[in-house]
Amino acid sequence: MERVGVLIAGGGIIGSAIACALVERGVNDVCVVDLDLAGMYASSELNAGGVRATWWCEPNVASCRDTIAFFEAHADEVSLRQRGYLWLYDDAAKFARARERRAFQERLGVRVDLLDPAEIARRFPLLDRNLDQIAGATFSPRDGLVNPNAVRRLYRERACAGGARFLNRHYVEGVEVGEAEPGRRRVERVHVVEVQKGAPADESGLLRRILTQHRVEPEASLDHPSLRPEIFVNALGAWSPLLSARLGVRDWAVPVRRQIAMVDVRARDLPPGADLHGAGMIVDASGLYFHPEGPYTLAGFSSPAEPSGYEFRYDGEAFFEAELWPRLAHRASAFERCRHVRGWSGLYSVTPDCSGVLGQVPGFANAFEAHSFTGRGVMQSWAVGRGIAELICDGRFGALDLAPLAGERFLAGPDAFVKEDLHI
Ligand SMILES: Cc1cc2nc3c(=O)[nH]c(=O)nc-3n(C[C@H](O)[C@H](O)[C@H](O)COP(=O)(O)OP(=O)(O)OC[C@H]3O[C@@H](n4cnc5c(N)ncnc54)[C@H](O)[C@@H]3O)c2cc1C
Repeated sequence: MERVGVLIAGGGIIGSAIACALVERGVNDVCVVDLDLAGMYASSELNAGGVRATWWCEPNVASCRDTIAFFEAHADEVSLRQRGYLWLYDDAAKFARARERRAFQERLGVRVDLLDPAEIARRFPLLDRNLDQIAGATFSPRDGLVNPNAVRRLYRERACAGGARFLNRHYVEGVEVGEAEPGRRRVERVHVVEVQKGAPADESGLLRRILTQHRVEPEASLDHPSLRPEIFVNALGAWSPLLSARLGVRDWAVPVRRQIAMVDVRARDLPPGADLHGAGMIVDASGLYFHPEGPYTLAGFSSPAEPSGYEFRYDGEAFFEAELWPRLAHRASAFERCRHVRGWSGLYSVTPDCSGVLGQVPGFANAFEAHSFTGRGVMQSWAVGRGIAELICDGRFGALDLAPLAGERFLAGPDAFVKEDLHI
């Protein structure tokens, strides 16, 4: 059985950021295991690439602010496009709340401008419809877009340069738990299945079956290594509850499907002065969000009626026709004649307060967790990696106090929640 210093389950953007932060603090023997490091079904591969610090709770604002500062220092490597986030409000009470939170956000170093409908029309000529129904908007110029794939690659390259290992095609199927001291348990062994590559035609089907049925078919398994970690980290994203269950720990997060699509808008349909390709993220009052992506517009809508589950079906034209097109065309005439190009679905991991879970696994001496960052995992990733590395190395948070994000808050009740309303 192989001994490992720090074993991280999950090599998405969060697991990779943790590995990077650990080796940069001089930790040796960091090993990341993942079923599929390419991340065909990983949220880190399937997201919208938006980064903003305009949240309403301090741990989220501060961790996104610091992560964006890291992206600024690596702007070319992560393709940072700092073109801002425009957030439209049709509800006067919500806009009043946004105005009120602005002072708090600015105190944390996040600039937020307030725009009335006339100013929205002047600065965003694309939005030429129904602005009279808008109470106002916020615009945060330092926010914007990144290439999440490049972010994950950067974390991994830095981690590998410091000696971390990434084991691909390694599926965590079980853990053995022992007693560390009276009342405190520890992860003794982690059982992994090494999964063979699927036939090219069925590679995606094989991964999907494993990630939705939560088991490896016997004919797909090559080996069953067992690892003995000093420290163990659950960074399995939307799959973290399955591992928590194996640890005997309550996990409050649920996986929820989110769909996004590429939409084609013909340049000749744009109103004069509307340069869509110079825009950042636009969040409409209807819950629609969109931004330019290469030659297309990437648009998403998170249906509040979506049931929870490990579901990757993409509804294609039906999703575009029912959810995207009417909302796009309601706000901008340029979208009247737009066309669905393609799309996909991925998983949000959603907690009761829509904030992530980060800290030591309750009741465990050597297990940590960082998961369930809903729609915020990319923009929070660098600060999350740093925070977990601080906890492991120093036994406490340093740069930011992320203790309010510990999973135990859900046991303490709603007063301890880190409740994020500004959520899409
Ligand atoms: C449609 C959509 C849009 C989004 N938009 C944004 C956005 O604009 N900005 C933003 O910041 N965030 C956004 N998010 C959220 C963001 O993508 C996630 O919060 C983030 O990617 C989570 O990263 P992770 O590393 O925790 O999880 P993942 O990237 O899902 O990584 C988990 C890894 O665990 C592996 N795995 C699972 N089970 C096992 C097992 N048993 N053994 C071994 N490996 C296993 C998987 O292969 C995967 O690689 C969006 C998400 C979606 C779905």
